[in-house]
Amino acid sequence: MFALIDCDNFFVSCERVFRPELENKPIIVLSSNDGCAISRSDEAKLLGIPMGAPLFEIRHLVKAYNVEVLSCNFELYGDMSRRIMNILQQECEKVEVYSVDEAFLEYDDTINWIAEGERLKKYLMKCVGIVTSIGFGTTKTLAKLASVQAKSSGSCCYLDGSSKYFDVLKAMPVGKIWGIGAKINKNMRQQGNYTAYDLLTADPKSIRKQYSIIVERIVYELNGRSCLPLTLIQDLKKSIQITRSFSSPVSDKDILKQAIARYGFRLAYKLRENLQKTKTLWVYGCNTKFDVADTVLHQRTIVLDEPTNNTATIIKYAQNAVEEFFDPKLNYSKIGIMALDLRDATIPQAQLMFEQKTSLKKDIDKVMDSLNKRFGLSTVRPLACGESVDWMNKRGNKTPEYTTNWHNLVHVKAK
Ligand SMILES: [Mg+2]
Repeated sequence: MFALIDCDNFFVSCERVFRPELENKPIIVLSSNDGCAISRSDEAKLLGIPMGAPLFEIRHLVKAYNVEVLSCNFELYGDMSRRIMNILQQECEKVEVYSVDEAFLEYDDTINWIAEGERLKKYLMKCVGIVTSIGFGTTKTLAKLASVQAKSSGSCCYLDGSSKYFDVLKAMPVGKIWGIGAKINKNMRQQGNYTAYDLLTADPKSIRKQYSIIVERIVYELNGRSCLPLTLIQDLKKSIQITRSFSSPVSDKDILKQAIARYGFRLAYKLRENLQKTKTLWVYGCNTKFDVADTVLHQRTIVLDEPTNNTATIIKYAQNAVEEFFDPKLNYSKIGIMALDLRDATIPQAQLMFEQKTSLKKDIDKVMDSLNKRFGLSTVRPLACGESVDWMNKRGNKTPEYTTNWHNLVHVKAK
């Protein structure tokens, strides 16, 4: 038996843990640069604020209903997610972390799913203060659908492919099924497959012909035949990208170099965290539409002699690339760096030249990582990253990093 644990309105819920006064109030969390609503409380959903709505389009609602508008605090959400997944891994032997706020669990078929679901919900609430919806099913697809049902019912739900649950599946739009994207949803509806039940009763072979083997698998899964096993070991990442838009266009080369150093610093940190090295870097920048007829992608690809995850090396190449493609006549709206051709850092490389120099660089990274892990990212960073962060994206209404920065600890006073 599978279970899908999904945190409700995750980013908003993380904010509420530290600001309980926001309970029962309409809240939205905005994307980076304070652009669009990416998480909404139930109260905000009821006001008709759609997912992804640009802030400027919903200003009237924000004002009229006193909606609390928060900038994204990814440091907080990432840390809360890590805590939740750690708890799940302690509570269940088989866990697949599916996304920042969702995980699949696998249980013995004999489990009392109601008792286990309620226990997990309560335990997560007690440990991290986050409300979750839990769905159980005989396949991953059914468990995911059951979690959708659980969200509206408020308690754990269960689905198998038997006729006992046909009513639930008849009420479930086909677009809610895991793996059915917008395009397939549209085609399905045109062909009269409106609900999960319609797809369950469709002929798998003709579905395969019309769509793909993936959709055929969904039909089997809806019928209770498990085709998607739990992925217990996450695939190593094939590429890592760090990119941000600027709060306003930048035409100063030094600022661009500071920005790319900052992203290179984060990239190197992520590579080391994943125990990976990169052999190829791709550095790019986009100018604003106002300079020339269209945006142009300025880019450089750097193939390194040796795979690396060293901060200083990555920053050096990234800054050189910016130096090369920088055009003083243009304003840049965005800059980014991507590590491609990733290698396993735990496999020893052929004997390196300049062994001593490399090991000193490694030591510096090690010290930086341990300090930054303990006191918050960017506590110690290379000088190349610069002091000022004016150019960084706007997060005007960001709450403190309560759980990842000692300076932001919540103060409690007894009266
Ligand atoms: Mg969720």
